[in-house]
Amino acid sequence: MKNFFFVILVLVILAAIGAVIYFYQQDDILIKADSQPSFSATPLPKTSQETLPPSETNYQKPAEDTLFKMPVFNYHHIRPMPSVASSTIDDRAFTVSPEGFEAHLKYFKDNGYQTISLYELLGYFDAGKPLPQKAVAITFDDGRYGQYKWAYPLLKKYGMTGTFFITTDWVGKTDFMTWPEIKEMSENGMTIGSHSLDHAPMNKVDDQQLRAELAGSRKILEEKIGKTVDLLAYPGGSYNSHVIELAKEAGYQAAMSVYKIIDQAPKYRYSIRRFHADDWLESITEKLVGY
Ligand SMILES: [Zn+2]
Repeated sequence: MKNFFFVILVLVILAAIGAVIYFYQQDDILIKADSQPSFSATPLPKTSQETLPPSETNYQKPAEDTLFKMPVFNYHHIRPMPSVASSTIDDRAFTVSPEGFEAHLKYFKDNGYQTISLYELLGYFDAGKPLPQKAVAITFDDGRYGQYKWAYPLLKKYGMTGTFFITTDWVGKTDFMTWPEIKEMSENGMTIGSHSLDHAPMNKVDDQQLRAELAGSRKILEEKIGKTVDLLAYPGGSYNSHVIELAKEAGYQAAMSVYKIIDQAPKYRYSIRRFHADDWLESITEKLVGY
């Protein structure tokens, strides 16, 4: 009888131990289950946007006041540097020699900078499409012939791209590009934008002229190159809020001004900050410190 009770006691203890082990295992399973996503069949995406598949739906449009750095360089004359005797200080200040320009491009290439089209910048503004980490943009104003003769072959040589803002009344005049040259660049990876009809300062002309400068130059460019033209560079960088309103009305997607900084934001899409590039390499590299 005593043995019988002992056996029962042992069985009860074993059952109790078994029950405790069972519940611990259940807890363990629950803990493990909690540590897994409830939809573990589809793994969570990695946090960095760069690892996401290239689908636009995964990007998030940045807030209008999102500030970020992206250098947009502004060139004018690309030509052999005129001599001091034959030129003014301004002539030389707005000139980058072909050797100087190539040194800029080589610096970009050797240091991992990637030239992007301004439409890629708009792709970030509009849909949050990420830009390359060391993105830079190159722009030219006025439509001088040297841009076709010197800059365009160098951009092609380095596999880079640029945007050329054309003053349409000047096309074909002495020292300016012709329409076939502009069209050729447009068909070979370069972007064409408007720099007005005749370079009048847009903040100083009346509305009738302003509308003609904006819409007229755009229409001529589109007819000549057979593509949509919707980027603008203000002559002399001059603009105000009224100029911006009429630029929007004329169908421009973005407009460039001239500043001494490289900070951009979606809210500045009608005053994109470009800075003037000089002949010497430091005018470029000093803007790229820490970028
Ligand atoms: Zn200009």
